[in-house]
Amino acid sequence: MPEPNPMSETAKINLLDFNRGALEAFFVANGEKPFRARQLMQWVHQRGVTDFALMTDMSKALREFLRANCCIERPRILTRQLAADGTRKWLLGVDDNDNAIECVLIPEKTRMTLCVSSQLGCTLNCSFCSTAKQGFNRNLTTAEIIAQLHFAHHSLLAEGHPQGVTNVVFMGMGEPLLNFDAVIAAVDMMCDDFAYALSKRRVTISTAGVAPAMHNLEQVTDVALAVSLHAPNDELRDQLVPLNRKYPIGELLQACRSYIDGYRSRKITFEYVMLEGVNDGLEHARQLAALIGDIPCKLNLIPFNPYAHAIYECSSQQTIDRFRDYTAGKGIVTVTRRARGDDIDAACGQLVGAFHDRSRRSQKYQLGLKDIGGLSVAH
Ligand code: SAH
Repeated sequence: MPEPNPMSETAKINLLDFNRGALEAFFVANGEKPFRARQLMQWVHQRGVTDFALMTDMSKALREFLRANCCIERPRILTRQLAADGTRKWLLGVDDNDNAIECVLIPEKTRMTLCVSSQLGCTLNCSFCSTAKQGFNRNLTTAEIIAQLHFAHHSLLAEGHPQGVTNVVFMGMGEPLLNFDAVIAAVDMMCDDFAYALSKRRVTISTAGVAPAMHNLEQVTDVALAVSLHAPNDELRDQLVPLNRKYPIGELLQACRSYIDGYRSRKITFEYVMLEGVNDGLEHARQLAALIGDIPCKLNLIPFNPYAHAIYECSSQQTIDRFRDYTAGKGIVTVTRRARGDDIDAACGQLVGAFHDRSRRSQKYQLGLKDIGGLSVAH
């Protein structure tokens, strides 16, 4: 163990950024045994202890080394809100520049699902999503992503919910597959037996359809995959999800097939936001059923959640039911998602956080300009 080398707080290494492999490498590089990584993960993720001094199964010298060189730094909680239906929302400050992200906990009978953000804003500019109107600032770090689970899980444990968070969905702000490495490291921790030990079926990455990254994803993990389809043909999808101009439906569905290929129990969840008079007709249902009917999948119809200045309205219940009856009649398992936490703006597409937009997209919206610009998709 090298001599402690006290550094300034900001130069300290945030161990929340490290999955097990990275932590083991860190300990080995500092003359320690790899099993220290497992010990540290249990303290931090399972017991919620972030003070190295309390990690009593480590030697005093090691604890002092960690104190001097490392930190367990989480975003600050700025606000907590509780919706009438029990949904909770946290606003988390991620730096000193007033940038903040939101994450949402959705209690159900048998599950506690946490919806996490992966980016500060989003580059994709989907026409119906309020996060899109905010523009983009930056990718979140692994620490900022896993911290959302740390907060929610330990809040639940402290309140006497022994299971804590049971499911995680990457359906908050941002496109997870455009922040690939940080998301995968966080997913590793979510599924690690020495951290949250969630089964891979209980962690869902939701993507607008970054086809090449979906192929990369299948190489490194087999978590559940949700794909935001929202339209049954390229012409309409180009308008709703501009990323479609880059990776059209054919290419996207090819990536979906490839993801589940060889896994008999695997299914893709297709998400389809119901926009009145836009994508909710019987003809759309027919096209959709023809498109995805042969892919092992589940179809999730999401009633559009309105927000200020939205240009769409939600389809009527009758229209949603008719759409569902059609696709279900074609043998596609179809579920209508219930909006949760909408009284505290915690429902899908209502997560906006607060951040400085580097893309200037928010400014264009405020000026009432139409964003016709090309895609700025970071790889
Ligand atoms: N970028 C990822 C994850 C974030 S959005 C993705 O596109 O999948 C999570 C889901 O909420 C997506 O299916 C998204 O299209 C949907 N969504 C966005 N805005 C919405 C709104 N206003 N009402 C309902 N669903 C919305």
